[in-house]
Amino acid sequence: MPLIGIAKMAAESPVLENKRRVTYLELPAKSFIGACSGKRQIFDWTVNPYRGCEYGCRYCYARYTHEFMELSADDFETRIFAKQWDAAQFRLELRRLAPGDTVAFGTATDCYQPAERRFGLMRRMLEEMHGAVEELVIGITTKSDLVARDVDLLGALARRNDVRVNVTITTHDPALARKLEPFAPSPALRLAAMAKLTAAGVSAGVGVSPVLPLITDTEASLEAVAQAAKAAGARTFWAQPLFLKDSARKVFLPWLEREFPALSTKYAAWYSREAYLKEPYVGWLKERVDRVRQRHGFDERGGHYRPPDWLGPAQMRLFG
Ligand code: SF4
Repeated sequence: MPLIGIAKMAAESPVLENKRRVTYLELPAKSFIGACSGKRQIFDWTVNPYRGCEYGCRYCYARYTHEFMELSADDFETRIFAKQWDAAQFRLELRRLAPGDTVAFGTATDCYQPAERRFGLMRRMLEEMHGAVEELVIGITTKSDLVARDVDLLGALARRNDVRVNVTITTHDPALARKLEPFAPSPALRLAAMAKLTAAGVSAGVGVSPVLPLITDTEASLEAVAQAAKAAGARTFWAQPLFLKDSARKVFLPWLEREFPALSTKYAAWYSREAYLKEPYVGWLKERVDRVRQRHGFDERGGHYRPPDWLGPAQMRLFG
């Protein structure tokens, strides 16, 4: 059957670079900033500069997004598409954002993955936003220490917007992290990047996402992440249990069978019919996470935050 739409565009995308394990391609971009809709909408806008993610987390839920391009769940981590940059188009889209809107970067794939070193799309977007937007809630989710490269721009944006960087840390144990997230920076590197951001007045927090039942859901495991996050200046701490849609299940369950064979029957039973865990597990985990959060005085998810040198609307008028 002939390919159509995004699958055709992906098949025709020019190769920009072949690395040892990963190929970078360029995808024409109809838009950079996507409007969110639907009942479960928690952001107004989302931005994902790259399709695919070479960090290759074994539980990654976004693998299905490569299926739209007739590519496999494994291709997700080796065929990375960078959106073709168009500054004029991005500026035009920025005009649609209104004060108070929430803009979330990295909702599907990591926006500071290694491709960012090559293409710099995040940096270009933040540069365009600086001076052009105000009073937005700007959230960035990443596992990459590269986010600290942009501390200057994030700090500058935070003077007129509510900027929140969410660093994902599923475990503080580097050996387990290497198995789970084989090509992502170590938890120590992520924490060091967070410390740089918070020292510069950028609000940052940690998401333990996903929590793996019977692997990373002990209070000791959550506590280890929380302590390290606190030391790095995190303001927020939250967690959510693993969910496994079809394309993620195909990768995760064979991995579990290899690494944690004693758990494979349990996981197969939990996730064979449903992607999401239900009660009583969800409530039990929430109580545990709440205890850890309260012990360290963390907020749950963001909350309103202004750095000490934030320019409110009245000051902005004065300073132009
Ligand atoms: S960093 Fe995020 S998007 Fe990338 S592979 Fe891991 S879970 Fe998926």
